[in-house]
Amino acid sequence: MNWLRRVMLGRYGPDQLSIALMILYMVLSLLSRFTNVYVLSVISLIPLVFCFFRMFSKNIQKRYQENNIFMGYYNKVKYGFYNKRDRIRDMKIYKYYKCPNCSNKLRVPRGKGKICITCPSCKTKFIKRT
Ligand SMILES: [Zn+2]
Repeated sequence: MNWLRRVMLGRYGPDQLSIALMILYMVLSLLSRFTNVYVLSVISLIPLVFCFFRMFSKNIQKRYQENNIFMGYYNKVKYGFYNKRDRIRDMKIYKYYKCPNCSNKLRVPRGKGKICITCPSCKTKFIKRT
């Protein structure tokens, strides 16, 4: 393992984006195997090559920035999913409205009849049936 350590000296190494690229490669290559679409197996090599390029890159600053951008998108998708899941879970208890002024998402309890909703961020009042 000493040679590997010597090779990796001063290089970026694996990160979350590399792992995601590796997973993308595996998914694409599996897909190409099951569908017998030759183009897919060629396309699947793109994330693999990019993954290795990044791991052996000596431009650590640039790779670090790339990973940060990736993690930004990843977290957006992740928390977007959590939000959707929570909304579906709470559908029986709460109703969701958008503020007509600042389009903030507001959550109000269900089954209270017609109520006046005050937006907590812009103080706009509007009436909705819950
Ligand atoms: Zn508002």
